[in-house]
Amino acid sequence: MIDNYKTKGARRRLIEGIQRKGIDDERVIEALYKVPRHIFMESGFIEQAYVDQAFPIGAGQTISQPYTVAFQTQLLGINKGDKILEIGTGSGYQTAVLIELGAKVYTIERQYSLFLKTQSFFHKYGYKAHCFYGDGYIGKPTYGPYNKILITAAAPYISDELKQQLKIGGVLVAPIGDSYSQTMTSIIRISENEYKKEKFGEFVFVPMLKGVEK
Ligand code: SAH
Repeated sequence: MIDNYKTKGARRRLIEGIQRKGIDDERVIEALYKVPRHIFMESGFIEQAYVDQAFPIGAGQTISQPYTVAFQTQLLGINKGDKILEIGTGSGYQTAVLIELGAKVYTIERQYSLFLKTQSFFHKYGYKAHCFYGDGYIGKPTYGPYNKILITAAAPYISDELKQQLKIGGVLVAPIGDSYSQTMTSIIRISENEYKKEKFGEFVFVPMLKGVEK
C-alpha cells in the first residue's frame, strides 16, 4: 500500500492534533511523520488509521492510540543508538516509531499468530527489529541490559527480572494498574538497587498477560 498525498495529509492533521494535546518533542513528531500508520492496519481501514484512537488488529489486540504512542515515546527520551526492549509488539507501529528515532529495538510478543504476522510485516517493509515470541514478564536478558524498556500493555506490576535488565541510568516506561485503568509510570534505575518512580496520568491498555499463547 502506498503513502500518497491523501494519507500524508491525514497523517499531518492527526499529528497536529497530537501536538495540541501536548506532545512537543520535535524528534518524536518527526518520527510520527515518517511512519505511515495505515500500513499497520488491514487495508480498507485507511481513514481509521488517522483518527487518534486505538483500533483492533485481530487476536483480541489493538494498535495503540497515536497520542499514547507519542506520549510513551516522549517519556522514554530516545537517543540514537539506544538499545530498547519493547514488551507487546502487536501491530509493530510503536516499534517502527522507535526505529525511526534511531533505536535498536528488541520486541517481544506473547501471541504466536501476531508475532509471525508482524515479523514478516517488518521484513516486507524493511523495518529492522529483533522480534521474539515469549513472555514479557521474563524480558530478554540475553540481549540486555537495555537503555530503555517500554511496556505497551497494562502491567499489574513490574517484575524484578525486567528491572534487572535496565542499565543504570536507564528508563522503563509502563502503564501500571488493573484492567480498567493504568497510571503511566516512568522508572529510572539510579543505581544497582535504587529506582526512582514518577507518574504521568491515566491510560487504558489491553492487559499484560502471563505466559505465551499458541
Ligand atoms: N505496541 C503495540 C500495542 C499492542 S497492544 C502497537 O503499537 O500495536 C499490546 C500487545 O501486548 C498485544 O499484542 C499483546 O498480545 C501483547 N502482550 C500482552 N502481554 C504480553 C506479555 N506478557 N509479553 C509479551 N507481549 C504481551
